[in-house]
Amino acid sequence: MLELKNIKKSYKTGDFVQHALKGINIKFRKNEFVSILGPSGSGKTTLLNIIGGLDRYDSGDLIINNKSTKKFKDINWDFYRNNCVGFIFQSYNLISHISVIDNVIMSTTLSGYKRSKRKKLALDALTKVGLKEHAHKRPNQLSGGQMQRVAIARALVNNPDIILADEPTGALDSKTSKQIMDLIKEISKDKLVIMVTHNPELANTYSNRIIEFKDGEVVNDTNPYEEIDKNDKLTIKKTKMSYMSAISLSFNNLKTKFGRTFITSFASSIGIIGIALILALSNGFKIKIDEFEKDTLSQAPILISESTIDLTNVTNTHDEYTEYSSDKVIHPLKINVTSEHKNNIDSNYLNYIESIDKNLVGGIQYTMISKINMYTKVNDKVKEIDTNSIMSSIPSSMDNDISSIMRDNFDVIEGTFTNDPYALYILVDSKNRINEEILKTLGYDNTNISFEDIMDKEFKVVLNDTLYSKIGANYIPNTNLEELYNNESNITLKIKGIIRGKKDNDFATLSGTGILYNQSLISTIIDKNNESSIVKEQINSDFNILTKVPFDKENINTEKNMMLTMLGAYKVPAAISIYPKDFDSKDEILKYLDKYNKDKKDADKIIYMDQAKMITSLSGGIMDAITIVLIAFSSISLIVSSIMVGIITYTSVLERTKEIGILRAIGARKKDITRVFNAETLIIGLFSGILGIIIANILIVPINNIIYELSKLEGVANLNPIHAIILIIISMTLTLIGGFIPAKIASKKDPVIALRTE
Ligand code: ADP
Ligand code: MG
Repeated sequence: MLELKNIKKSYKTGDFVQHALKGINIKFRKNEFVSILGPSGSGKTTLLNIIGGLDRYDSGDLIINNKSTKKFKDINWDFYRNNCVGFIFQSYNLISHISVIDNVIMSTTLSGYKRSKRKKLALDALTKVGLKEHAHKRPNQLSGGQMQRVAIARALVNNPDIILADEPTGALDSKTSKQIMDLIKEISKDKLVIMVTHNPELANTYSNRIIEFKDGEVVNDTNPYEEIDKNDKLTIKKTKMSYMSAISLSFNNLKTKFGRTFITSFASSIGIIGIALILALSNGFKIKIDEFEKDTLSQAPILISESTIDLTNVTNTHDEYTEYSSDKVIHPLKINVTSEHKNNIDSNYLNYIESIDKNLVGGIQYTMISKINMYTKVNDKVKEIDTNSIMSSIPSSMDNDISSIMRDNFDVIEGTFTNDPYALYILVDSKNRINEEILKTLGYDNTNISFEDIMDKEFKVVLNDTLYSKIGANYIPNTNLEELYNNESNITLKIKGIIRGKKDNDFATLSGTGILYNQSLISTIIDKNNESSIVKEQINSDFNILTKVPFDKENINTEKNMMLTMLGAYKVPAAISIYPKDFDSKDEILKYLDKYNKDKKDADKIIYMDQAKMITSLSGGIMDAITIVLIAFSSISLIVSSIMVGIITYTSVLERTKEIGILRAIGARKKDITRVFNAETLIIGLFSGILGIIIANILIVPINNIIYELSKLEGVANLNPIHAIILIIISMTLTLIGGFIPAKIASKKDPVIALRTE
């Protein structure tokens, strides 16, 4: 089953060629105890390594199972080593950072068995060598003889057909040597044992065949084997290391070097901490900016008024002058008349506005300039109220409910918001104050007023048919205020609530104080006034219905509308303010407004003003830029740390050279070695990623405290869990890349040299 045919092997060191084996021919029986005897340097170890598939012969052939191994690939040698051969070394070659039983279990790493089965096999092997009780000790807690027994158990655990022992008693005293030899003798009963020794006495006592070596040649063979039995065959299975084995091997290694692993992980987590904090901050600031934008947007609605300045025209004038010139000359600025644009807000356009997607709009405010004839009682005397100076409308929402602008920005501190078109509200400032002039108008003299006193205060709207009586061909306004006030057809308005801006709300603060009415009130009054006979007659006349002066022919529509406004019957608002719900909604609304102008003549276009535009585009952009710069800086530290992990992995490779040799000796593939080290870097990457996230989260607490002290913004820094997971994955990827080259180096290590290093 095993035959060496003219095997030659030489080593080159510089120009010097050492012929370690000079043409060896040996046939082995399936079951014998062979001693290879010879002086140091005669090539015994080299022979054993070649038989064991650890080293490659230069020429000749090694016949296994009647087949040449000339065409063997690495993988075939790996399978052969793992299945057929068990190595025992002079220096035991145990891995010191794992327990005795784990050393034995490691040999079964490639068996493909479950861990429980592998553990049982290892315990059986340890029992066989009499070390069952010492299974959980570390190798360095054992004596030399005991360590060699562990090595024997490790060689036996896969039940190989061949045991190769290289001076197994070389480091032991004679008494212990004898015990070990007895054990090996026992093993040789059903295996081929090839033992290298330079002790003729041991060879004579225990083996049944002695092959003597000298200068790389066989000089004597006491029991040569001539006829090979073709039926003696070795069994060779395919084996490989599972990822779990690789991970547990690396994990155990890292555990023994906890201090170093921790410091490495900590150092490489610094980049992660940096990026995590930057993301947390920029994330938080973005949210705050969004909130700020929403505030800004609600303060600065899209404004559509009857006349507006077409900014595009203004900036385009005066092409002959250069911008930001250093010339010390002042030019006259001619305001281009055409830059003023008349917006023709008609019912068509109003319908278009009413059809805006409800979800985009927080509220729409129409500024009506139609006169309202309003009266109230002050100290039992009726008094006319100038509505334009003390009242303003609440922005309505699309569905006639109180708009979200109101709910978002104001608290109702007395009464309720209602849809009742005849409800009025008192708007006070943060100190519950209201403009003194308004109070005077309402008849309260510079004193404090209880809510109770002002709630339900009544106002009367007198309609045109009550105010104007037609006498002959003329309309005469009634001047008896008492009579007007008490007319049955009047509309009665009542103060139904007191509202105050929410705390620290800019929009509310800017809104001032006064009396608010629901928008539906104005349209209701205008509708009613349109029914009045004076308005009907005015609509059909080319002259002022009150003075009988004819309208200017050129300007008939404008003059008539002014008259209708005076009569509280002009339906078209002077301005429309649209409050977008948020930044994106605003874009949509602007698109919608632009669509109206498409294919229209310049004169028919409706031009709007977007006041919030400048501020918002600025803030978002700056934040993004700062974030990118900071992340770039932290990325550098992340890359530095992965290079560091690479260096540390490389050190680990150097340190574990022996372990690599042992793993290869038991049949581990190059790939398996790479896996062990990749598993190690992955564990470090995972650990440093998690550590980084934990530390970042701890640091967020004081950072938020500082930000709060500086800006009164609460909980700004806030790490998104998805970002955290991505960062851990990045950390693992980078350390894996950093350790990739060292892991490759490890897998390329020559197992023979690896085992020879101490
Ligand atoms: P033995 O085990 O009988 O003491 P070895 O097989 O270890 O002898 O070595 C045989 C010869 O080959 C020695 O001269 C040794 O110096 C040389 N040799 C072994 N391995 C190497 C190597 N990797 N590089 C160079 N020379 C080597
Ligand atoms: Mg040797």
